[in-house]
Amino acid sequence: MTQNGKVPFVDLVSMHKALAPELLEVCKRVIDTAGFIGGPEVEGLEREFADFCQSKYCVGVNSGTDALRFALIAAGIRPGDIVVTVPNTFIATTEAISQAGARIDFVDIDEQTYNMDAAELRRYFETKCKLDPTSSRYIHKASGMPVTAVVPVHLYGQMADMDAIVEIAEQYKVAIIEDACQAHGAQYFSKKKNAWLTAGSIGSAAAFSFYPGKNLGACGEGGAITTNDPELAKKCAVLRDHGSAKKYFHDVEGYNGRLDSIQAGMLRVKLKHLARWNEQRRASARIYDEMLAPMSGTIQSPMEAGYSRSVYHLYVVRTADRDELQKHLSEAGVGTGIHYPIPLHLQNAYSSMGFKKGDFPKSEAAAVQILSLPMFAGLTPEQQRRVVEGVAQHASISSTR
Ligand SMILES: *Cc1c(COP(=O)(O)O)cnc(C)c1O
Repeated sequence: MTQNGKVPFVDLVSMHKALAPELLEVCKRVIDTAGFIGGPEVEGLEREFADFCQSKYCVGVNSGTDALRFALIAAGIRPGDIVVTVPNTFIATTEAISQAGARIDFVDIDEQTYNMDAAELRRYFETKCKLDPTSSRYIHKASGMPVTAVVPVHLYGQMADMDAIVEIAEQYKVAIIEDACQAHGAQYFSKKKNAWLTAGSIGSAAAFSFYPGKNLGACGEGGAITTNDPELAKKCAVLRDHGSAKKYFHDVEGYNGRLDSIQAGMLRVKLKHLARWNEQRRASARIYDEMLAPMSGTIQSPMEAGYSRSVYHLYVVRTADRDELQKHLSEAGVGTGIHYPIPLHLQNAYSSMGFKKGDFPKSEAAAVQILSLPMFAGLTPEQQRRVVEGVAQHASISSTR
């Protein structure tokens, strides 16, 4: 398990070794029937994952990016619309918006949770938009384009402040598409509903990724849309299969975004363990919290909001000399990551959009200070002790410098 005292950032090998017999059994079952695309494995996964997310419908697709794109298109987002999200996320969030034909816009994050700041979203509508009386939609004043959706990202496994975001979305008549690609099983306490709600059950639709490193990962590519809206689910199912509900009858132009049966079957095997794996991640996070507490002056542990049960896709600390800490940990054999080093509005890909440094200061400040420590189901307290030892060593070296 421990490679010469090294602690990997993620360990996917041990987990899959343990599950190998069951996973190979899936391959055999699918090969025996040669039903490689769609079919009972995909339908089974869709039922089981919808249940897991406390959502009525699930549509299995080829990736989280496809899931986001299909959800946006199915929710009625059209070329010429504006869709609002945050700069501190993976570029797939904004790729899906652009590829649905819409224009990306951003609001800044909350500096404690790193998720969309609902107050910033409200300010966006209040100051940058106005009601268009003929369409009764809210128009972005500078561009004249209608704002039709918001994509809150449940980053690092913690849900965004959904009560507040839902209230704003209802007031300004925009759809919510949750980017739940890092939040399989995360929960949010809704004061409005007086209940714990699961990621993927709140917006018009939600997108999940089954990329191997996610809390629920395929042994390849995969993704899913969840929704409570039967029409939206149907549209996504049509979009993923070349725009056809019936083979060779195409009502619209669609995509090839199907999920294959071997991946679906393997995901079903792993889904049975997901709740327990998420609990392990939460327990590991509590251990890190305690071990890091004495260094709270220089290293800030992640904040779990009172409304939130995070599934800790990532355990992200914050510190002023992040780059040196990362280097020190690397030399000590501890793998880390940065999620993400460049906020999206400053990426080369978006240089023509007119954003500049200083537009989203909280995202920019976080990007140079955040560091993701090793986190995966199966991380041992002994490995964590070694990680924190590395952090403490670095803190003591830099304080005597
Ligand atoms: C992983 C991820 C995606 C994209 O998922 P893929 O399956 O890689 O296409 C989208 N958004 C976020 C926040 C992600 O972490």
